[in-house]
Amino acid sequence: MDLTNEQIKRYSRQIVLKEVGGIGQRELLNSKISLIGLGALGSPAAYYLAAAGVGSLQIIDFDIVEMSNLHRQILHFTKDISKKKTESAVEKLNLLNPDCTIEIVNERITANNSKDILKDSDFVIEGSDNLSTKMLINDTCINLKTPFTIAGVLRFQGQLMTVVPKDKTSCYRCVFGDITGGDPSMSCSQAGVIGFIPGVLGCLEANEAIKSILGIGELITNKIMYVDLLRNNFDFIEVYRDNNCIACGDNAKDLVEIFNYEGENVCNE
Ligand SMILES: [Zn+2]
Repeated sequence: MDLTNEQIKRYSRQIVLKEVGGIGQRELLNSKISLIGLGALGSPAAYYLAAAGVGSLQIIDFDIVEMSNLHRQILHFTKDISKKKTESAVEKLNLLNPDCTIEIVNERITANNSKDILKDSDFVIEGSDNLSTKMLINDTCINLKTPFTIAGVLRFQGQLMTVVPKDKTSCYRCVFGDITGGDPSMSCSQAGVIGFIPGVLGCLEANEAIKSILGIGELITNKIMYVDLLRNNFDFIEVYRDNNCIACGDNAKDLVEIFNYEGENVCNE
């Protein structure tokens, strides 16, 4: 399918990049990216992916907009308080770029529905605020062999890693172990978070998705990126695939079938 004159105009500043070009733009328009959570990480990721002309964006969240979300969850405005986050998000994203078809999943992602929801995705962006959802997405995407990126933020700090199952890169469980159920991590409501840190990390997640789809540059695989906005640090720590990892190791099990992934499962980083 050729680009229309309007599309050539809309995407001209990225089509001119040799890494994108007309072919890359068509690839983006034919791609589908799924986004878990329409909170502080999902907001900038969704805006930039829609603006870049990703053809299909599946947005997954069951939560409603609260006043305390607004300082960092920039998809949602004051008038949206008490609305479903999916409803608030689709309104903004449709206004931004009608080329981008938004598919809404207004339900909790669980071990019972995760494979079905994510099965047609070219890339998955994890933007929830809890460990059990991150583990579920890790295990589901490894099962589906779908590349994905996971980020987390707290206070002024954030971290991010991308996993490419078909290349057997280190997964989230290789690094953080076999935690399932319950959630020992501290939440943003307890520890606080500055709005800009998920802004930065959400953009980096979108950048990982675009690089993966276009096959350009380097993905943040086999390493974790640590960002500290108080000290202006961007550090990388090498991590390694664990051959005994229960999710991606040589004798891995289908964890999505095994575990319940209990936890809060709220998607509002
Ligand atoms: Zn692993």
